[in-house]
Amino acid sequence: MPDSTNASPLYITMHDSDNVAIVANNGGLPAGTVFPCGLALREQVPQGHKVALVDLPAGSAVRRYNVPIGYALKDIPAGSWVHERLLKMPDARELDNLPISTVRPEPAVPLEGYTFEGFRNPDGSIGTRNILAITQTVQCVAGVTDFAVQRIKAEMLPRFPKVDDVVALEHGYGCGVAIDAPDAIIPIRTLRNISLNPNFGCEVMVVSLGCEKLQPERLMPPGTIPLVDERNVADVGTSGESKLDVVCLQDDAHVGFMSMVESIMRQAEEHLERLNARQRETVPASELVVGVQCGGSDAFSGVTANPAVGFCTDLLVRAGASVMFSETTEVRDGIDQLTSRATTPEVAQAMIREMAWYDAYLKRGSVDRSANTTPGNKKGGLSNIVEKAMGSIVKSGSAPISNVLAPGEKLRHKGLTYAATPASDFICGTLQLAAGMNLHVFTTGRGTPYGLAQVPVIKVATRTDLARRWHDLMDVNAGTIADGTATIEQVGWELFQLMLDVASGRKKTWAEQWKLHNALVLFNPAPVT
Ligand code: CA
Repeated sequence: MPDSTNASPLYITMHDSDNVAIVANNGGLPAGTVFPCGLALREQVPQGHKVALVDLPAGSAVRRYNVPIGYALKDIPAGSWVHERLLKMPDARELDNLPISTVRPEPAVPLEGYTFEGFRNPDGSIGTRNILAITQTVQCVAGVTDFAVQRIKAEMLPRFPKVDDVVALEHGYGCGVAIDAPDAIIPIRTLRNISLNPNFGCEVMVVSLGCEKLQPERLMPPGTIPLVDERNVADVGTSGESKLDVVCLQDDAHVGFMSMVESIMRQAEEHLERLNARQRETVPASELVVGVQCGGSDAFSGVTANPAVGFCTDLLVRAGASVMFSETTEVRDGIDQLTSRATTPEVAQAMIREMAWYDAYLKRGSVDRSANTTPGNKKGGLSNIVEKAMGSIVKSGSAPISNVLAPGEKLRHKGLTYAATPASDFICGTLQLAAGMNLHVFTTGRGTPYGLAQVPVIKVATRTDLARRWHDLMDVNAGTIADGTATIEQVGWELFQLMLDVASGRKKTWAEQWKLHNALVLFNPAPVT
């Protein structure tokens, strides 16, 4: 990979009307550096940080991505380092008088002929992996379930070579919570819909404690599980009427810890047999359900990796696939861009409803969206949430936004969806799993080893330096865009092809190879008791 340390000084602007740019060179640039345009640095500027292209008088708008990302708190001469301490953050855009469905792009040319090898499920969805997931109603059963899962993997999985993994859906919910609070629907439907993720083949089995608030029938009401066949009816620990396969640890039949473990293993075997009988088949790329998000962002996120993901998002939409972008606090400042791209006024109103709900949720906790940025974001050159948001929205590409999901809801539409979630990597990933993603794309600039046990996670590095140091964690290097050795389009196509390979099981992501699995973290805005 090229090292830009010795390359000629380079800055990157995102729009012709921008009056700041970011320094691209690895290691930053020293005071006195003169760019080819004649601009001279008045001070040292770290990589990814902003330089003033013109004199910025106190009070003037500092523009990046063609929007004001802040207002100068004092006079900033051309060539200065423009860091967060020099900027006043703009107020959040009001949620009224927004442009509604004003962008009417020409219909995109369909992208045809692309396929992958996936697992067809009884409910019509397509899995990219063949995993036995064990649902848990409550955290209390996590230790017992994990013990059983370790034995299943060691003693049983070798007999079922077509099954990729056995995963316990561990979480912190289920009891000690205000289960009847209106917002409790969010964690409950999240857990329900994760159990039905396409990578689990509609083989739902539940481990319950017995006395918990979130009873199995409340988690999975009758009719929520697509019937695989009659053997899906089991009655371990529950009334014979239940269609749900439940192992209840407090059941009188369990005498001793090992009898609980053996119940879980016995039930798991039935599901493993059915999962093992499945074959991959060729399906169109339109069966991909892709969740995109970013984490550990820097100023290059919005310059390299996110634009490449955005290009790929457009390819996926043209191929008829489903793509979700999320992270409410990171798109809130671009709400006018999003409502203008909505296909219908109803879609725009749904977005506004989700943003308003989130504004109120943050206000209840006496914060606003500015609580989002991290010390690492700022060290990486992102001054505030407005600048971070402009770089984050780019992941959504340019396709019309045709659908909106509330947190924990299941996706039922093709095309581009705004799935409302917090920006927290684990909570966003958990909610996109519930929506039914079968492939996850994650961009990072500071670097995070993020991964999920339930779906493959393709990680895209924003900088060549990160891709080089984390060569066995990053799947795609979008830093080549800043280096000038690849275009956004080239990296976008590389990602698209890699997605088809990973979805088909022909390639594994680094997170899969190392089994890097972050926890499921349910979004619970309701009270804990
Ligand atoms: Ca995130």
